[in-house]
Amino acid sequence: MLIDLHIHTRTFSPCSVLDPVEAIRVAKAKRLDGICFVEHDAIWEEAEIRHLRAVHDFLVLRGIEVSTDHGHFVTFGLDGYEDELYRLERLLERLQEAKGIAIAAHPFRDPHYLRGGYGMVGPTLRPEDACRRRLFQWVKILEVYNGQNTLRENQLSVEVSHQLRLVACAGSDAHTPIEVGRCVTAFQRPIRNERELIQEIATGRLKAWGPGWQLRLEGLPDLYGVQGRTGGSSDE
Ligand SMILES: [Zn+2]
Ligand SMILES: [Zn+2]
Repeated sequence: MLIDLHIHTRTFSPCSVLDPVEAIRVAKAKRLDGICFVEHDAIWEEAEIRHLRAVHDFLVLRGIEVSTDHGHFVTFGLDGYEDELYRLERLLERLQEAKGIAIAAHPFRDPHYLRGGYGMVGPTLRPEDACRRRLFQWVKILEVYNGQNTLRENQLSVEVSHQLRLVACAGSDAHTPIEVGRCVTAFQRPIRNERELIQEIATGRLKAWGPGWQLRLEGLPDLYGVQGRTGGSSDE
């Protein structure tokens, strides 16, 4: 199953122009099997997500991209947002209580974004130094492909995931329709709800596909049920 784990809609993320129904339409057109709305420090009501799922006969899941003192984390398993989640320590405690997970999202952008900017990774950051970021003492799942990342940021993330043996997943970080499905995660097993998603990410039965996956998929072994689509990978 191909799922885009990281999408922002204009419904709850002021920085996004993406209509949620449009996101579903584009995801279907790109032959994805599901998408996750992970809004900035906000979450969809469960009933609304269930409604979208039923009306469009398409897997829509919800999470929160939490801004913390150690960067952004895409999380699944929480029911609501509280300001104290800004502290990563508190976020991880809450996730542990809720049996949820945190994915380190684009962790190598310039730390300026913690102060409201949106900088890029320092060109001199070496993989061995990137591996020493404190967050990797606690978070073992890394978004190796983010559709908003530069090539260098994605390459660095792949390298760090290999060196630290992290679970490597991917998401588009879409804020506009065209960006939906730019990076996706391929799962071995069927996923019908957030609990199954959490389980499959935590066990690492997945593969991250980077930008261009739709062009590169042909000819690759059908390990994850994606053969025959027009679609690329974290091992390249
Ligand atoms: Zn982010
Ligand atoms: Zn995001």
